Amino acid sequence: MKQAVMTGPGHIEFSDAPETPPGQGEVRIRVRQIGICGSDIHVWHGSHPFTPYPVIQGHEFSGIVEAIGPGAENVPTIGSKVTALPQIVCGHCNPCKKGRFNICENLKVRGFQADGCGRELYNIPAERLVALPASFTPDQGAFVEPVAVAVHACSRAGNLRGRNVVVLGAGTIGNLIAQIAKAQGARSVLVTDIGDHRLEIAEQCGVDHVVNTRVRSLKQATRKIFGEDGFDMAFEAAGAEASLGSAVEAIEKGGTILIVGVYGKPPVVDMAVVGEHEIVLAGSMMYWRADWERAVEYLETSISITPLVSRHFAFDAWTEAYRYIDANGTDIMKVMVDLPG
Ligand SMILES: [Zn+2]
Ligand SMILES: [Zn+2]
Repeated sequence: MKQAVMTGPGHIEFSDAPETPPGQGEVRIRVRQIGICGSDIHVWHGSHPFTPYPVIQGHEFSGIVEAIGPGAENVPTIGSKVTALPQIVCGHCNPCKKGRFNICENLKVRGFQADGCGRELYNIPAERLVALPASFTPDQGAFVEPVAVAVHACSRAGNLRGRNVVVLGAGTIGNLIAQIAKAQGARSVLVTDIGDHRLEIAEQCGVDHVVNTRVRSLKQATRKIFGEDGFDMAFEAAGAEASLGSAVEAIEKGGTILIVGVYGKPPVVDMAVVGEHEIVLAGSMMYWRADWERAVEYLETSISITPLVSRHFAFDAWTEAYRYIDANGTDIMKVMVDLPG
């Protein structure tokens, strides 16, 4: 079995590994396709603070059940399409005791602090599996993970029906949040970015309004688009200080800003405005199983992902995939790695 080991920043080695049968409670998956996400790119650059090397990357994937280990229960039959949650949680810390496994004090994520799915055969505990509809393409299966991130973020925002919503950052996660907010009945959704290409993709996905905040400030744009109604919900998916600051400045008093982006350094925020305007700043971290199940439903019914897939690379061209991402910067959305078989 071939596997892709990242031995250090910028270096992937392909090696042969023994085909171990699935252990107690495990299932063996033949991996079909892997999505590359922003966090993976940080590991490639050596700028991910919590990932030691060597590491097998990959946490967004689709595959086929190939073998079922002893004691693995309620498992989709052999040949079924599946994906799987990448979290490894302790089950006994305070957040885990409250059922908030996504913020486990001892959280490990496959592809970062544990080996991920970057290999032909992947043994994983059966309870992590999520069954996919037979109609799903490998692209759709690999998109369940990022869609679940967006589903979880929207659930943290409460009921979006009838509300005006701003999403800052038109990358994959921002795009998906905008689509889900719309599917959940938001009245009007504005997506902002500083790159026109990503905004064009958001338009192709049916988002109501897009604005390049290099051309027009968020405050000006939201005044023009929402008028007196303003907006009381913002998702900050850019991970940029200026973007967060513009949301604090433009959102109506009492509004909520949900932090989804990853910040390279701690942003400076005008907390005097946050205090006086009773703005709620809240976080969102990964997802729960229920978010994955809803993500599958959204992918079946209302989410358009075709415009988000920038390019496919073969498994043994994973390094070229990263070089392509590095060369094309913000023009890239989702890059996929395809496995043989
Ligand atoms: Zn991801
Ligand atoms: Zn825990």
